[in-house]
Amino acid sequence: MNYDLVLGNVHLLDGRAADIAISGDRIAAIEGAGLLSAPKRIDGGGGLCLRPLSDSHIHLDKSGTVQPGIRPPRTLSEAISTMSTVKRAAKSDPEEVRRRMVNTLNGLRRNGTRCVRALVDVDETWGLTGFEAALAARKEIGGAVKMQIVAFAQEGMTDRVAGLLSDAASRGADVIGAHTDVDQDPTNHIRTAVSIAEKAKLPLEVHVDEPATAEHFKLPLVLEYARDVPGLTLVHCLSLGKQPLAVQDRWIREIKSAGATVVVATSVLLFGLPLVPVGKLLDAGIHVAVGSDNLQDVFVPLGTGRLLETVRTVMLAAQLNRPEWMTALLRGATGVGFKLVTGGAPDLEPGSPATFSVFTGKSPSAVLFGEDEIRITVVDGNVEEEAGK
Ligand SMILES: [Zn+2]
Repeated sequence: MNYDLVLGNVHLLDGRAADIAISGDRIAAIEGAGLLSAPKRIDGGGGLCLRPLSDSHIHLDKSGTVQPGIRPPRTLSEAISTMSTVKRAAKSDPEEVRRRMVNTLNGLRRNGTRCVRALVDVDETWGLTGFEAALAARKEIGGAVKMQIVAFAQEGMTDRVAGLLSDAASRGADVIGAHTDVDQDPTNHIRTAVSIAEKAKLPLEVHVDEPATAEHFKLPLVLEYARDVPGLTLVHCLSLGKQPLAVQDRWIREIKSAGATVVVATSVLLFGLPLVPVGKLLDAGIHVAVGSDNLQDVFVPLGTGRLLETVRTVMLAAQLNRPEWMTALLRGATGVGFKLVTGGAPDLEPGSPATFSVFTGKSPSAVLFGEDEIRITVVDGNVEEEAGK
């Protein structure tokens, strides 16, 4: 076989030492280390080879809105109301919103993130201002970051918002975003979002149960209406961990049978809220992705955008002290996110996109414990960097 390129001497997530052959923009073959050859060969130095860092959930329209000295909000509704002030100002200067977005995307790119699922609010306060800025930012950032746009009903689902979401869907939105906790009538909110997603043939992403109380448990409602929507993503699911153990187990099985991906983010910790029981989801074989969520914005002023730091914080907060959990969550921040954003296979396999990063560390634990420099990134068959060699 003639290949364009062989990336030799890497380790895969399952521990195998391998060579990866590339033809065009695809992985052509994966064999044991030293077994493949091509006119061009790059040495991977034995490093762990994974899909690139993929941030599965970031509120791109909000990132970078924090001002020095600001007091973090105490509640979700306080945060939404502060953001409304930002939106009203942005309506007269949408260019500024685009600039902020591009800044954030460039910062993520510098930290090694190559795939991003970006949320923008669609609401009566600023209409499609954030969505249009995201379209322009995506154009400007080009191939440096593969970016999906979620048109998100953060401020609630009115008839006008439903119309705006449908407009966004016809103009380049990739996902419809909903929330269980922003409307008096969550059933109407979820049903409307499901119907918009189904009509537009787009995936649905739902912020689920941010109050994190036993009584406020809307996950069953979301699954009742949305379980058949292809590409369902559930963000946070904070009330699940407050249920009795048998109830948790039952709804974890339901998430699994719906084929939904769950996204964890550490932003909620600042509100004193617990994460979803991450270890249980991973034990059940549910795909768990990782997102920055709020990045230096008026909701949460913290966050570095360094996705491996977020992975480590999730591990601390969710007490993920087993090696198999660590490996699964690292896959969540790479392969699972890559699949969400691009539709490509989460793991490296022949026929799948030749898009991946090689880290300095040779194993998941080596990378998580600090050998986390990215040596090489290949995007669609193009070797884009060979840093740290
Ligand atoms: Zn969010």
